[in-house]
Amino acid sequence: MEQKTIQQKSENNNTSTSIKNVQKTNIIKTDSTMINFLQKSGVSLTNEEHTSYKFQCCEQRSEHSNRTCQHGMMDLTVETWREENILKVSVCHYYEQNGDLMRDLEIVYNVHLDLHGTTFPAYFRQDGALAIEDTVFFEENGKKLYHPKMLKSLKSFSRTWAANLRAQKRTLVKGKSHKKINQ
Ligand SMILES: [Zn+2]
Repeated sequence: MEQKTIQQKSENNNTSTSIKNVQKTNIIKTDSTMINFLQKSGVSLTNEEHTSYKFQCCEQRSEHSNRTCQHGMMDLTVETWREENILKVSVCHYYEQNGDLMRDLEIVYNVHLDLHGTTFPAYFRQDGALAIEDTVFFEENGKKLYHPKMLKSLKSFSRTWAANLRAQKRTLVKGKSHKKINQ
């Protein structure tokens, strides 16, 4: 696996992503299309408490699942919590299989609030027969390292995912605050 020492380099080339028609308050411009899209859709980056949100494609629910609409579009669950100066943002499609909650898929983003909102996808997981899970950042011999190829591909995937979610015109149906659950 290719490894490089972490360079906390701010990639500002994407910060021009337009955030129109939003109240300027509480919007933190980040270099992530996904995070900017989520903020525009009602997700706050300033909540200190663990907060969860649910987005539906439409209100016509599937007869077969309470996490899917009639058109087969899975709901989107977003959760945010703080770990020191990093805001963690989990973006996930959940489905149920034999009573188990499955992720298809989940990406957790690290939003560095003290680094102008510089954002890295840090973790992903896909459940199912070929379950995969990995973390971008890791430590080895006391050095903080990351997988550059994985980071690049997750960033690229995230841009496509955010564009798809935007095109689906999802609406926020639930936003609630609750105490952080130790994970
Ligand atoms: Zn629908």
